Amino acid sequence: MFQKIVIANRGEIALRVMRTAKRMGVATVAVYSQADRNAQHVLLADQAVCIGDAPVGESYLRGDRIIEAALATGAEAIHPGYGFLSENPDFVEKVEAAGLTFIGPSSKAIRAMGLKDAAKRLMERAGVPVVPGYHGETQALVALAAKANEIGFPVLIKARAGGGGKGMRLVSDPDAFPEALAAAQREAKAAFGDERVLVEKYVETPRHIEVQVFGDMHGNVVHLFERDCSAQRRHQKVIEEAPAPGMNAQTRAAMTEAAVKAAQAISYCGAGTIEFIVDASEGLRPDRFWFMEMNTRLQVEHPVTEMITGIDLVEWQLRVASGEPLPLRQDEIMANGHAVEARLYAEDAERDFLPATGTLHHLSFPDHIDGAKLRVDAGVTQGDTITPFYDPMIAKVIVHAATRAEALNGLASALDTTQVAGSTVNLGFLTRLLRDEDFATSNLETGLIGRKQDALTRIPVPATRHVAMAIAATSGAELDTSNGDPFSALAGYGHFTQMSHRRELMRGEEKVTALVSAQRDGSLAIHIGENEATQPIIVRRADAARAAVWPGHVTVFEGADSLTFDVPDLLQAADDAAGGDRLRAPMPGLVKLVRAQTNDAVKKGQPLLVLEAMKMEHTISAPHDGVIAEIASEGAQVNDGAMLVRFEE
Ligand code: ADP
Repeated sequence: MFQKIVIANRGEIALRVMRTAKRMGVATVAVYSQADRNAQHVLLADQAVCIGDAPVGESYLRGDRIIEAALATGAEAIHPGYGFLSENPDFVEKVEAAGLTFIGPSSKAIRAMGLKDAAKRLMERAGVPVVPGYHGETQALVALAAKANEIGFPVLIKARAGGGGKGMRLVSDPDAFPEALAAAQREAKAAFGDERVLVEKYVETPRHIEVQVFGDMHGNVVHLFERDCSAQRRHQKVIEEAPAPGMNAQTRAAMTEAAVKAAQAISYCGAGTIEFIVDASEGLRPDRFWFMEMNTRLQVEHPVTEMITGIDLVEWQLRVASGEPLPLRQDEIMANGHAVEARLYAEDAERDFLPATGTLHHLSFPDHIDGAKLRVDAGVTQGDTITPFYDPMIAKVIVHAATRAEALNGLASALDTTQVAGSTVNLGFLTRLLRDEDFATSNLETGLIGRKQDALTRIPVPATRHVAMAIAATSGAELDTSNGDPFSALAGYGHFTQMSHRRELMRGEEKVTALVSAQRDGSLAIHIGENEATQPIIVRRADAARAAVWPGHVTVFEGADSLTFDVPDLLQAADDAAGGDRLRAPMPGLVKLVRAQTNDAVKKGQPLLVLEAMKMEHTISAPHDGVIAEIASEGAQVNDGAMLVRFEE
């Protein structure tokens, strides 16, 4: 076994690999970019090496610096995680040329599966069913259009170098083909530098079912059953589970056998996944699944397989890479119960899933749930910032229970009691999906989310009760900011029970004022609208746990949904403490253009930057003459209320 390894990744997967390495007594070296210098993976590793600036091209994709870091720290092997360099055969060769071990398959296996067209040809020869379609050399419009007609519409045009659903177009009729082809080629060229495409039969009522495989250097290949990843949004996975709902013994045998055959065809070593597209129009059948592609790495969703098999896949990766045989034979690998994983993202589901950023001023996960096993693979902790440089995933929440219904319920309730404030997150969307009737009854197919997007992403409108809770939560902040608990802060003013404090906050554009007074029983009485003649809303001590106050805002948690209010006083207090005046983003958006820089003296009315939000451009101009102390960077994704410009005092 290795003594020391480099983990060439960040976030939750770096932490996940580190956990197993620690347990096995393997020392870990983290690599990090400047933007990540205080990240969890850096703090928790035995050693850490900075490999460059924030953009991935200057850090996490710099294979040369990662190899240098390994050599300098005396590590023997590199674990790539997923994404970044995990499926880059040139990197594997450079790692090996430096005398190090790559914890993953050979460069040859990665190359064989790297391009979808070549992989499909290879699989066809190996006797694995592939999606009917055209994956040959010709790329001329006329020829491809003729092939599409032969295959029969609807067809799917796919970039052969594709990944993450990019360069993919569904075409329903021949007239739309030329335009869709051009669009797919353009997108493929921009994203992968390779415009070549293949054309496939679009499988109707499609389900995405994949098989986890594992090979070693001694010629053994096993499978660890299947995962279902049909809950997708724009061809990207949202919720994954194992086993696949409605799977039967016959279909499972056929799929796992095909997957093992596929891995054997390329003498596969390490963890890999064979992805199949399944026609589920008449249930799962042994002759209705086809190979789509192989991912030659650990997958994001590997925990669901770990939960049902009790196997630590990272431990297997380390063992296999160090030359050991697979720890178990096929007949020793068992599956138990049902596991479901949800990907918790900083994104705004209501605004078409715009990626969000922000500081996670408040972040808490439940530590257990009743009747099921809970696992949280987080990449961040409270106080960490989601930057625009990397994937905005906060955590994966995974639940394992005896049955699918219990696992779905367990996961939904785990997400109900997860609290995030400081960034917009997809928690509400995830729980609505988990509780969706079609999803719950296994009536799955990849189009489900798209069809129900409106209902799944609709956030409840704040009720008076939420406003009262928000008011109550902020009332303590004024009295005692060192202690976030308004109840204990107000309790000290017990003899003033009749005296009320005036508070205000913004519900969208509307200013809401209220009077707050402490009651003898420790609760707070809130008069919305400052009218003491009306019946007050009583907010109890127990409700304090359902709100979080953070600079300029207060967030109230209602199940998995969160309702955030601006609190002008708190914003002002935060600004005053930091000195200088500032301009804030009026809504979440993208900083498209920056026209001034630090130390510039600017004139009133001078345009400083352009914010693109809700598909419109907003110019932010200087409200007065002044000198710029800080300004947002071009390309940054900013949240509502984020600082865009700060002037010198
Ligand atoms: P990428 O590598 O970009 O992720 P994939 O080939 O893995 O692309 O496909 C992504 C998703 O697109 C699949 O999970 C599935 O939902 C859908 N898809 C792919 N091929 C087909 C097909 N032939 N018919 C129907 N849906 C498909």
